[in-house]
Amino acid sequence: MARYSGAQCRICRRESEKLFLKGDRCFTEKCAVERRQYPPGQHGQRRSKISDYGIQLREKQKVRKIYGVLEKQFRRYFHNAERKKGVTGEVLLQLLERRLDNMVYRMGFAPNRTSARQLVNHGHFLVNGKRVNIPSYILQVGDMIEAKESIRDLDMVKDSLSKIEQRGIPSWVEIDFQVFRGKLLQIPSREDIQLPAQEQLIVELYSK
Ligand code: SF4
Repeated sequence: MARYSGAQCRICRRESEKLFLKGDRCFTEKCAVERRQYPPGQHGQRRSKISDYGIQLREKQKVRKIYGVLEKQFRRYFHNAERKKGVTGEVLLQLLERRLDNMVYRMGFAPNRTSARQLVNHGHFLVNGKRVNIPSYILQVGDMIEAKESIRDLDMVKDSLSKIEQRGIPSWVEIDFQVFRGKLLQIPSREDIQLPAQEQLIVELYSK
């Protein structure tokens, strides 16, 4: 599966917002958004007026990049969300949140979604006792994720778990740190999803 392999900080600078794509570095003064508060590129420091379409596009790009999803797949999530009951924007975020790589990140087994995706790709996680190496796998309520023994001693995993309190444990998951297990307790509501996004703009963009 293809993925974005460019500089992560460039994405934050493009959105002029901290998106916390890198883990620890995002909380230090080395953060690129804090050091250079203008968009990247040759014309980054120019002032330009942004249209309504531009605002909607930027919001969509931001959410897509946060979850590390490519355009085609993101659009598929949107169409799935449209077909389900409920508010489309909220359902879209709920689908993205239930991706296996995102859940691994939310449960604290990885410092960011990129690392979580790599760990999943390499087959280091079990879902309900079975090995799953598909980052886009959507979890259902009650599903149990478990980190395999092979990664339990990794510094990255231990370090990330030790900082989960600082990052905040989502109310919709249950984590047993002793046995490296986590469970999806419920579908998160919009208030539960800590995301700096206005999903309504994405709905407007795709509904044109
Ligand atoms: Fe974004 Fe983190 Fe890079 Fe800051 S350090 S620009 S928050 S990815």
